[in-house]
Amino acid sequence: MHRVRPYLFYSATRALCSTCLMVCDAKELIEDGKVYLWKRCLEHGQERVLISDDVDYFKLCREVFLKPPEQVERYNTQVEHGCPYDCGICPDHEQHGCVSLLEVTDHCNLRCPLCFASSGPERHSVRSMDQIRAMLDRIVLNEGEPDVVQISGGEPTTHPQFFEILDECRRRPIKHLMVNTNGLRIAREDGFAERLAAYQPGFEIYLQFDGLSEGVSQALRGADLTATKLRAIERLNEVGLSTTLVATLKRGVNEGQIGEIIEFAAQQRAVRGVTLQPIHDSGRNEGADPDRDRLTLSEVRRRVFEQFPTLTPADIVPVPCHSDCLAMAYAIRGEGADFTELTPLTRHVPPEVLLDAGKNTIIYEGDKPLLGEMAKLVFNTFSTAHGPEGATHALRDLLCCLPSVDALPNLGYDRVFRVVIMAFLDRHTLDLRSVRKSCVHVASPDGKAMIPLDTYNIFYRGEEERRALERVRRGVGAGRALPVLSP
Ligand code: SF4
Ligand code: SF4
Repeated sequence: MHRVRPYLFYSATRALCSTCLMVCDAKELIEDGKVYLWKRCLEHGQERVLISDDVDYFKLCREVFLKPPEQVERYNTQVEHGCPYDCGICPDHEQHGCVSLLEVTDHCNLRCPLCFASSGPERHSVRSMDQIRAMLDRIVLNEGEPDVVQISGGEPTTHPQFFEILDECRRRPIKHLMVNTNGLRIAREDGFAERLAAYQPGFEIYLQFDGLSEGVSQALRGADLTATKLRAIERLNEVGLSTTLVATLKRGVNEGQIGEIIEFAAQQRAVRGVTLQPIHDSGRNEGADPDRDRLTLSEVRRRVFEQFPTLTPADIVPVPCHSDCLAMAYAIRGEGADFTELTPLTRHVPPEVLLDAGKNTIIYEGDKPLLGEMAKLVFNTFSTAHGPEGATHALRDLLCCLPSVDALPNLGYDRVFRVVIMAFLDRHTLDLRSVRKSCVHVASPDGKAMIPLDTYNIFYRGEEERRALERVRRGVGAGRALPVLSP
């Protein structure tokens, strides 16, 4: 009788030792309905990291939501030390940048206990306009017509030439421009929201919004900003400026408030959806324990449909460009006074249509063909009486809007509501199969590279990370892990 191990062996991969950051062998194991990344570093021993608590969804990501990868227009680095030490983008990467990040400053008017950029009032460095132009040019060289450029930081609205940066972006063929902001300036400065709104269409605010209670704000932002955030949203509603609410999720703080956040978002006219970002172990991470506090994408997904039953498991599907880290649900808003009514759309579209229906990217305003394809499918589904039980209301809504769906420009962006779950890899969860599909790329400050955000935070962001990179590169050259130096 052979001994039997208490798990299913799913696959082998390569990952990072979270101590020395050297690449090591790893396995993906399924045990008790959960999926673990199991690693063995020859220097530092074994690690076991939870990567999914939903085996069916894990398999859906890995076996169904697959697409041929779309490539960047050019590679900026060569394969020399091996992934993830050659970013980038190097020729081994498997996905272009759905979102390109332009970080314009390290300064921030907050100092959140959790900030993967380690920003704060004490940091004063800002990128010069020459640097910013070089970074933007790199984004355009790599992406051609970038789908989404997100201006970020630090707090980008504190950059002294913030509006000049927006103008520079507008001179380039960027389809959708976003400003990633904590909203303080929008809330506090008269006329600021109006000035931002003038950059529409194809312009959106990506507003940090973690929940509606003081406790959440204190825990995640170090101050009670509840009233400030509500004021910012009020102003964005007044000027009709497209906004996504972005919630950072931390276990024990706000993972129980996801439904409330989506409910609130649906009631705001300017809000086009919610992005949920579970914390990861990068930058300033005060009081967070990576094992105890880890929220996997699959857990966040489950909590969405538990807390916001309008969306069901069939509505929240993997985004195939990087399905380990991205999931989405689409709904159509009601018209006029019924704008808070959400009719889920994704459940009506079979995976093969989602996979074939157009571009391999997150869908924003510019991607109407895919939206139209989805809407047509919904129409077909209903008209052949295959709609779900009790969908009369949804049927009426959709049939009402379908004539304008055919004339796609009339199905405005303001009718779309989306929920996106966006997870990031850290030194614990990164594996080389997955990180090659990372589709959020950061422009390096010298304008020479585009680097996946996941590896940027580990190896490329600042001096400390660069020192770690040099150490592991020397270790790769020497064929072993070098001693871990204290910073
Ligand atoms: S993460 Fe991508 S760009 Fe970076 S080294 Fe690996 S394959 Fe190359
Ligand atoms: S998380 Fe955002 S708002 Fe908070 S310190 Fe960092 S950059 Fe500033």
